[in-house]
Amino acid sequence: MSLPLNPSAFPIATNTKWRIRRVVAGSSSNNISPQNTRTSRSCSITTSPTKRVVPKASTNQNATPNHVTRAASAAVALPVDTAAAATVATEKLPPIETSNETEFQRMRKGGFWNRKWHMMDVTHLLLGVGKHGLALSAPFVFDAGAVLVAIVLSCVTGIGVTLGYHRLLTHRSFKLPKWLEYCFTYCGSHAGQRDPIFWVSVHKNHHKYTDQERDPHSPHEGFWFSHIGWFHYNEYLSVKCGEPEIGVYSNVPELKAQPFYRFLHDTYVWHIIGLGVLLYLVGGYPYLAWGMGVRTVLVNHVTFVVGSVCHLWGGRPYNTPDTSTNNGIMALLTFGEGWHNNHHAIPKSARHGFEWWQPDVTYGVIKFLEMVGLATDVYLPTEADKKRTKLSLLANAASI
Ligand SMILES: [Zn+2]
Ligand SMILES: [Zn+2]
Repeated sequence: MSLPLNPSAFPIATNTKWRIRRVVAGSSSNNISPQNTRTSRSCSITTSPTKRVVPKASTNQNATPNHVTRAASAAVALPVDTAAAATVATEKLPPIETSNETEFQRMRKGGFWNRKWHMMDVTHLLLGVGKHGLALSAPFVFDAGAVLVAIVLSCVTGIGVTLGYHRLLTHRSFKLPKWLEYCFTYCGSHAGQRDPIFWVSVHKNHHKYTDQERDPHSPHEGFWFSHIGWFHYNEYLSVKCGEPEIGVYSNVPELKAQPFYRFLHDTYVWHIIGLGVLLYLVGGYPYLAWGMGVRTVLVNHVTFVVGSVCHLWGGRPYNTPDTSTNNGIMALLTFGEGWHNNHHAIPKSARHGFEWWQPDVTYGVIKFLEMVGLATDVYLPTEADKKRTKLSLLANAASI
């Protein structure tokens, strides 16, 4: 397996019409197996002598399945959830629409220096620099209590993201009482990955456009971009995802309708600063360095590897039409999120480690909440569902 790790993986040309075409390795073979078949996507451009005309009212709605040709149906009947998970977009995805082609190309190739820095990017860059600075100073102010606080906060905020942001808010894999949902997502907001409205919006687009030019963080645009660069480039994200402007997040109306999430969105930075001040008051600089520095740096990078490493290295038991992989080491570090190929195959599953030997701490917490009567409607695919999904993905790949 090899993936291009630079922006040239997406051919660039000005005044062209974009077409995304999937290239399927071995698609004509009758001997496709999950182990030896890797479905890859590449972007190719068909040029047009005319300048790209952009509909003025372009929004994400243009990316609805009406514009997507689905792959031929598999020869097996699928239950609703599994069928949706296994359905594959094949071609005629709508082009990225922007009113200014030159500006869009500038964003795509901008890198670090040759780009506009929105205030939102600068704010989070400064927070990022600050926490890395604190983390570097932490070994010089070692304190056992501070380390313990960092470990506890890492677990609480990490689960807040994996259970609260991801499996609950994004994929609705189960239900919780509202007060408990807010507790988990508030904990997640202290992980340093921004508020639920931003996070869920980005992740929904990642699933919708995985490894295509609209994907917010595909390794096709470079390892570092998929790992951390996207997080500091709000203008580019909004254009790629079809938003009319920065900060709209049109694909999460259910969260924007809730005052709690709007409040968190509007006041996010102050909660981070508030926790930092609290830790400083309790334990002085060592608590700040370990509790806000080391802790957030570790949790952030460990979470972001799901978007980078888990789209590059690992096994692919499911022949999903993307680059997602299962990576056991990352799964251990990310409370089960590293079983990313399983997750892309059946996104709604509350359990990402499908097999008994695939540890999934987040699912363990969900299971516990279910046992004590707090989590309900926990969605788990049956063995038959997994088998049908596997067959369907193979059939889809073979039909292209
Ligand atoms: Zn992914
Ligand atoms: Zn997901």
